[in-house]
Amino acid sequence: MEVALSQLWRYGGAVLLVAIASLLILLASDPTIAANPWLIGFAPVILSARYGGLGPGLLATVLMGVACAYSSPPSLTSSGAIAVAPNDLIPVSVFALEGILISAFLKKFHAPPSPPQPGSHSQQQLRAILDNAPVGLYVVGNSSCEFMNQYLCSWLGLTSEQILGSGWIDSIHPEDREWVIRASTESLTTAQPFEAEYRILDQSGTLYWILDRAVPVRDEAGQVQFFQGSCVDITARKQAEERLQSLAQQLQERTAELSASRAQMQALLDYTPAIIYIIDVDGYMRFANAEWYRIFGPLFGNPIEGQNLRDFLPPEAAAVFFQENEEIFASAKVMTFENDMTLPDGVHTFLRIKFPLQDASGEVYAFCGVSLDITERKQGEEALRQSEERFRSLSACSPLGIFLTDTQGNCTYTNPSWQAIAGLTFEAALGEGWAQAIHPEDRERVAAYWSYCASSGQAYSDEFRFQRRETVCWVHSRSSPLFADNGQLMGHVGTVEDITERKQANEQLQALTRQLQAQNEQLTEVSRLKSEFLTNMSHELRTPLTSILGFSSVLLQKNFGALNPKQEQYLSLIHSSGDHLLALINDLLDLAKIEAGKLELDFEELNLAALCQAALEMVEVRALSKQQQLFQELPLACEFILGDRQRILQVLLNYLSNAIKFTPGGGTITLRTQVVTDVELQSFNVLEVEEETTLQGASTPMFVGLSVSDTGIGIPVEDQHLLFQTFQQVDGATDRRHGGTGLGLALTKRLVELHGGKVSFTSTCGVGSTFSAWFPLPESNVEPI
Ligand code: ADP
Repeated sequence: MEVALSQLWRYGGAVLLVAIASLLILLASDPTIAANPWLIGFAPVILSARYGGLGPGLLATVLMGVACAYSSPPSLTSSGAIAVAPNDLIPVSVFALEGILISAFLKKFHAPPSPPQPGSHSQQQLRAILDNAPVGLYVVGNSSCEFMNQYLCSWLGLTSEQILGSGWIDSIHPEDREWVIRASTESLTTAQPFEAEYRILDQSGTLYWILDRAVPVRDEAGQVQFFQGSCVDITARKQAEERLQSLAQQLQERTAELSASRAQMQALLDYTPAIIYIIDVDGYMRFANAEWYRIFGPLFGNPIEGQNLRDFLPPEAAAVFFQENEEIFASAKVMTFENDMTLPDGVHTFLRIKFPLQDASGEVYAFCGVSLDITERKQGEEALRQSEERFRSLSACSPLGIFLTDTQGNCTYTNPSWQAIAGLTFEAALGEGWAQAIHPEDRERVAAYWSYCASSGQAYSDEFRFQRRETVCWVHSRSSPLFADNGQLMGHVGTVEDITERKQANEQLQALTRQLQAQNEQLTEVSRLKSEFLTNMSHELRTPLTSILGFSSVLLQKNFGALNPKQEQYLSLIHSSGDHLLALINDLLDLAKIEAGKLELDFEELNLAALCQAALEMVEVRALSKQQQLFQELPLACEFILGDRQRILQVLLNYLSNAIKFTPGGGTITLRTQVVTDVELQSFNVLEVEEETTLQGASTPMFVGLSVSDTGIGIPVEDQHLLFQTFQQVDGATDRRHGGTGLGLALTKRLVELHGGKVSFTSTCGVGSTFSAWFPLPESNVEPI
């Protein structure tokens, strides 16, 4: 209503001003004015545009144009018609154009209608309403605050004088000030509504959030007269928003935590080797983890969630399950079960733990089960149990004492045999009790050694005595450390063996050995005395024998007269007996010397062929007398040997004499030499060497053999062990017939062994015999055969 009135005044004014100007033009007697009414016509246009705005200015221009055109009427043509000369239209057009430009130009100088000013009754009412309104209200015109209601003033703690103009800007929070000014200026410039939420500070410094809205107020011509704004306290809303935002942030963080926790839980559930499932009170599966599916999936299907126990378990198994649930429900406790289950790969043992799940009100809504496949552990336990059982059975019937100790060496177990050997009960032996059974003289030593072995994890072996009630028992105790799979010492296991009898036997043996040694010494002395006696005796016997042999030989030559047959026979007997006796004495003397260690060899390099030839020549007559043939086989295996000529000749003569003696007439006797290695020598029937010699060349790997073979009577196998023994003749009757002392082979063996050699023989009864002497041969003497 008020606006319409204002418009009426502005346009009415324009009309009035045009009317006054027109009246002045009509009344003007000045010819200049009459000719140019436009000069006065500009006055109402200018005034209307300045005070009324563009609309009234334009109205004044149009009206004034018409009035001016009327004041200078168009000329009439000759036909009486009105003729409008082009010159008449030009001032009108120019005036109209100028009027429009002036209006447009003065538009900006047009003062907008002033806000309602107090004074009138309605304005006072309006002012009262605005001041008491529960929101801040203001008016901004020409970029400065022109009005602010009381509510806003009291809110900011400022007087309206302080606020008006640009004073309100100081109340904006410093952080928001710049952008608020920028935004509001932009709104003012563009005449666009302004809306912003920002912070203000009242005089006491209290911070408020406000919602500031301002809209441009326009006049009828659409011109912005001023901005009218309102401010609402939105501090509570902002705080609520901030709280909400903080809550939202917390919610987001909590959600992230929950999701991480859930992921962890899922990973745990997926990768745990335990079977985990949740079944609600009605028997419906609510959850089963990956392990459940791995083991039971192939049996009961996939997915299992949502299925009822009764649908996928055999009725008996389902009944057991429900029974368990009832028990848990009744006891409200965690319950543990262990049972076997047949799976496609065999029977498995499961350890199952079940517990109830309660909702917020404490009501049980489901049961959670955690099952572990303990088949391997069970089998291990069973194997261990059987192993222990076996150990106990073995231990119980073992004749050996068996004991176990801990890592400190304290006894934890003894078997009955141990208790019997030590004379202690099981209980008495436990801990360090076993040491009480040890003989007082051994106790300290045994305890120290045992403690050292036990603490260092070493094997233990010792002999000591147990002092039983009345007897002493010798034992041999051994023990080994027991280690766990990870190498940790677990204790010791040991045995105790009763060695009393062995000890006694040993002692007896030692006593016997000592006795034997004494006897040996006596025998050696006796033997030495015997040898000495024999040596002396031989010397004493040889002197008269020489006389007997010499004088009987002279008498037999009959140089001192003829002998009757009886005398000659007896003298021959005396002579041959003397010979025999001399040979016997010589052999005895040699043997005695060897045994007394007094026979010394005269080593020299001997031509083997010459030696053999000499020996054969010496027995040739005897062989011829028995029509025996003598052969020699002397391959050039070796030319020289190292030895005592007389003694080796003695060996050869003994072999050859025996061969002639024990080979019937017409038989053959062969003397052979050969070279063999020590390994090849093993294949011959070599006799044991009585006393090892350390002669030079004894360690040679080569031997030269001198062998005498005959086609004689041979020696029965059962008598062959007698050969090379002193005074041993195989067949008494035969030997008596053939003569001999039974010392030859024994002496031969000793002589060969003195050279570092060995003897051997082979003999077949009725076929013949071969006797050999093997002498060590320096390798340089060996020649190719
Ligand atoms: P003896 O001087 O009595 O011959 P030996 O010690 O030389 O003593 O011989 C012991 C015994 O071995 C002989 O008595 C004989 O029984 C037996 N003997 C030795 N050489 C031969 C042989 N070549 N053939 C058969 N028996 C033999």
